[in-house]
Amino acid sequence: YAAKASGHGVAVHDDVADRAWRQRLALSDDLHLALGPEAGPEAAEQFEVHYQPQVSATGGTGAGRVVGVEALVRWQHPRLGMLAPGAFLDVLEERRLMPALTALVARRAVADLTEWRAAGHDLRLSFNLSSTHLSDPGLLPLLDELVTSGADPAHVVVEVTETSLMNDPDRALATCQDITARGFSLSIDDFGTGYSSLAYLANLPADELKIDRTFTSRALADERIAAIVAGTVELAHHLGLRVVAEGVEDPATLDLLHELGCDESQGYLHSRPVPAAEFLRWLQARERVPAVL
Ligand code: C2E
Ligand code: MG
Ligand code: MG
Ligand code: MG
Repeated sequence: YAAKASGHGVAVHDDVADRAWRQRLALSDDLHLALGPEAGPEAAEQFEVHYQPQVSATGGTGAGRVVGVEALVRWQHPRLGMLAPGAFLDVLEERRLMPALTALVARRAVADLTEWRAAGHDLRLSFNLSSTHLSDPGLLPLLDELVTSGADPAHVVVEVTETSLMNDPDRALATCQDITARGFSLSIDDFGTGYSSLAYLANLPADELKIDRTFTSRALADERIAAIVAGTVELAHHLGLRVVAEGVEDPATLDLLHELGCDESQGYLHSRPVPAAEFLRWLQARERVPAVL
């Protein structure tokens, strides 16, 4: 890169790659400033937690009860505006700042949950753990801190992707056992995109399985995909797991997923991920008119 930057033989087609590279470098520095060891408390304000509801299948289409929310992070970047996790999570991992971010998300989300529950909303909260955080020595102290801060772990679900479990299955299993021993629930996220064995799955102390959007979005158009969903639901139920369908965008797909046995659904059909105050307004409006989607 040094040679290119000095101006010798810079090819035009490299401009795009160059800009992406520079952008990544800048993001990396910005993340370090916002989340690194020297970051001030105000820097954390750049990160927002948005919430997406999870709706129970019971009661039929449109009548399902809102049973939970998933916390999803957004970065209000000082120059670039609102960034979705896909724009910065891998840079975060590279800088080893993922545990710091997820701790921030978990603390804030648990505080919001406590408020909502105190106001009479019977909800549970899910937050996402990355694979690096799964093997981070700070994880269990963080979970203990959440409990000390007043959260009831019985209402908190820790989501781990199937893929991240497979990086180091034995170690991941031990950590999952540590998580559930503290009273938290465990959810297997993005299920169907990894290569976990049925034997491994049966040993995990999981309570929930989330069927990845790549399956739910194709179930209506492709009978074979629908068969995979049906088989996954049956297996999960035999193992005592609740099944959540991710990424549900239309009523016909929701109906099919209910027919296939999914217990809960999450997706743009119900709501996009929104800030806490907006979620609460959405929830209150829905509770006033329970039969309307
Ligand atoms: P995920 O945990 O599988 O979360 C679901 C993603 O699907 C979210 O993307 C959500 O906005 C999106 N989604 C939900 N419903 C629909 C739908 O109907 N249609 C479509 N097209 N998309 C839908 P998002 O918020 O961009 O997050 C992407 C991923 O980033 C998450 O996938 C999760 O793995 C990760 N992530 C988000 N927040 C955190 C965090 O605080 N910590 C960690 N470690 N990872 C996070
Ligand atoms: Mg998730
Ligand atoms: Mg997911
Ligand atoms: Mg996903």
